[in-house]
Amino acid sequence: MDAGIQRLRLEGTVDTCPVCGYTDGWHVSFKIKDSAKMIILICPDCHSRFDPDWNLK
Ligand SMILES: [Zn+2]
Repeated sequence: MDAGIQRLRLEGTVDTCPVCGYTDGWHVSFKIKDSAKMIILICPDCHSRFDPDWNLK
């Protein structure tokens, strides 16, 4: 995993940033690495980046 991208545990409703506690959800970004297409969630408040392990086809 890239430096600065943290794994996000998915349990229940995942709308709260575990770093700063922001509760209104995420910005969404996409990253292509070794032909894998990944979704990256970015906290709009503290800008921490998370990998929820949702790969795209
Ligand atoms: Zn945050």
